[in-house]
Amino acid sequence: MTRPILILHTGGTIGMVPSDQGFVPAAGFHDRLLAQLPAHASAHASEQTSSQLPTFELLDLEPLIDSSNLVPADWHRIANALISRWADYSGFIVLHGTDTMAYTASALSFILQGCNKPVVVTGSQIPLSQLRNDALDNLITSLLLAERSDLNEVVVCFNGRILRGNRARKVSSSHLAAFDSPNFPWLGEAGIDISLKSHLLLPAGDPQFLLPDFQLPEFDPDAVAILLFYPGISASVVSALTEHQGLKGLILLSYGAGNPPEATPGLIDTLEKAAARGITLLNLTQCQQGAVSQGTYATGTTLNRIGVIPGSDLTPEAAFAKLHVLMGKGLSGERLKAALQLSLSGECN
Ligand code: ASP
Repeated sequence: MTRPILILHTGGTIGMVPSDQGFVPAAGFHDRLLAQLPAHASAHASEQTSSQLPTFELLDLEPLIDSSNLVPADWHRIANALISRWADYSGFIVLHGTDTMAYTASALSFILQGCNKPVVVTGSQIPLSQLRNDALDNLITSLLLAERSDLNEVVVCFNGRILRGNRARKVSSSHLAAFDSPNFPWLGEAGIDISLKSHLLLPAGDPQFLLPDFQLPEFDPDAVAILLFYPGISASVVSALTEHQGLKGLILLSYGAGNPPEATPGLIDTLEKAAARGITLLNLTQCQQGAVSQGTYATGTTLNRIGVIPGSDLTPEAAFAKLHVLMGKGLSGERLKAALQLSLSGECN
């Protein structure tokens, strides 16, 4: 017997209802969904209907949140809900708010390294509770994707685009095409047919997270920060961050090929001192496309000298989640540095 799909509802616009304060997360998504699904598509696991959709079960993850309130500990809750039910379902859908969807999709891709089933992260720009919405379409496409045996990774499915989870970015606050992967090709597309580019897909892995001694990473919200370089940034602004109690990893969003404003008095010195105190510094480009090449300009070469790790073509969201997950697993020093430069789940070249 084929196993059903699990839909894990974490909150976000897709399941929200109007309130005096604006849209808020709300329980009862299951009933709202069944009311909207066309009769021939009704596919709840408890119903014996002939259906075009795979059977599914829906679980609300308490408390439901607006994803702008997400903290790294929420990845623990989401991953735990999936891992503890892994054997019972053929695929998983995570309903999530769009604001931090790219962070969560990235984090899940690292926690579920060696994935052997589809994990489809989706949401919507307009709630299912509204007459005109993109929720139903995103959900139906995700259900059809979550039953695919050729998909063995975490993807974002949104407005017909099928994107690697750790390459996805929210690119629009107003268009229904809210997600893209500007630095990596789409894995597929839902047009008249749902097509996947098989040569881009990750092969089915060997799930380490199912081993008896597997432990979910412990997340420390103070451990990772992101610093955007801008014209005129001062060393004291940088040191306010590098001297923050508990900081262990800092992502530098530098210019172009990975260039910092190295002529700023004291800035490189501040970074060097942070590196000497054991803070891992990871350098990414502010550009949407391309990768870091720290030796191209003399400005970037400075970073090589002080031990800053070039972050290749990682997105900021993927880098943030990768640092958190690796540190949460207890990696530090040279082991952390080496793992950061490997592609663990297809996140970088
Ligand atoms: N603030 C919402 C959230 O991220 C936005 C959305 O879902 O589109 O939960």
